Amino acid sequence: MNTNANTIVSLHTTSEGVVVWSRCSCGRLQMVLVPSGFDGKGLAAGGHDIQCPHCGS
Ligand SMILES: [Zn+2]
Repeated sequence: MNTNANTIVSLHTTSEGVVVWSRCSCGRLQMVLVPSGFDGKGLAAGGHDIQCPHCGS
């Protein structure tokens, strides 16, 4: 099970980068701005850049 994995809810490309909305396994929604130039693959694969302060790691 994905006990500490985040689910990417949506991606929005903006002038500053990509806004990623994710949902933690606890149900908490988080928003992260991924600056332009970052391919986001590490974000999606590892998810370590989106950490829930509620759950910790
Ligand atoms: Zn959480």
